[in-house]
Amino acid sequence: MTKDEVAKLVELVASRLADKGGGGTWLPTPTRPEPPGDPTPGMLPVWAGAAQTLPDVAPVRRPAGIARHRPEYPALVTAARQAAAARGASPLPAGSAAGAERAATQRTRREVKIGVSNRHLHVSARDFEALFGKGKSPMVRRPISQPGQYAAAESVAVVGPKGRIEDVRIVGPARGATQLEVSPADARVLGITAPVRLSGRLEGSAGGVALEGPAGKVQLASGVIIAQRHLHVAPADGKTLGVADGDKVAVECGPAGRRATLHDVLVRLGPGHATELHLDLDEANAAQVRTGDTAVIVAASRGAPAGKRRPLLTERDVAQIAARGDTLAVGGPYLVTPAARDRAKALGIWRDEM
Ligand SMILES: [Zn+2]
Repeated sequence: MTKDEVAKLVELVASRLADKGGGGTWLPTPTRPEPPGDPTPGMLPVWAGAAQTLPDVAPVRRPAGIARHRPEYPALVTAARQAAAARGASPLPAGSAAGAERAATQRTRREVKIGVSNRHLHVSARDFEALFGKGKSPMVRRPISQPGQYAAAESVAVVGPKGRIEDVRIVGPARGATQLEVSPADARVLGITAPVRLSGRLEGSAGGVALEGPAGKVQLASGVIIAQRHLHVAPADGKTLGVADGDKVAVECGPAGRRATLHDVLVRLGPGHATELHLDLDEANAAQVRTGDTAVIVAASRGAPAGKRRPLLTERDVAQIAARGDTLAVGGPYLVTPAARDRAKALGIWRDEM
């Protein structure tokens, strides 16, 4: 290339650069400056105000395994149905402490062990001496489930107007009043009609039977009962089982084909009780259960008799009690508000032991 040709080329380029009409835009058009930040490569910057990608404006199917905000609709329906049928805890969070406690109780099966009682005799010290000899008292053969009680080595024969039953076990220790507990079948054998009563409640109990021991006979004018089915509950188990003293519950027990629901089971809760459902031999045979089998509490009704409910004493009640000249004590058959207890102490009618 000669010097002339180079000069011609320079001229041509310069004229093209200067020519805005025909050549178009050799120089870049002015743009807004980029704000500081580090935009995602391939995306418009946030400040552009435009949708970034399609998923930002339209929901997409999540890949499997990623937690969702709420359960799938069919799962919700199932959970709600189960809760309605009381087959499971509520699908909703328990929320309160009470709700959490209820949920915990629902998860625990309300199961209790069964203890079957055969006919037996609780005997007074005086009647025991009449049956077995002066100065004698029941000998321990083996302890039974309820704390402090035992099956004694001694047994007696029971004679009724129609029949006789041998080897009726004595349950010790000796009690204040003699009490014979029989099943309805036993009562038929003896030829007597005995009422259903809770152990220890002998009002209206039957008589007309004789007890025969090696040293003598005792004629019973009363004290024969058919034991009311009952559930002993240790204080620690009351909350788990959802029962209180004096409640009545229904229990379900027995194998398929003999399964039975027993109603009117009285709850006896308190110190000195071990948790166990007590049935007599007839009831146990009807449902084909034995000692050690399990029953499930299926219903409960609050049934503390009015006399057993502990009234709440207020300051005013305490003042009235003081005016009557009575006193109050720890563990009495009443509940006392803290203020009322302070008042009782101030009035000098509070005792720290029964
Ligand atoms: Zn019992």
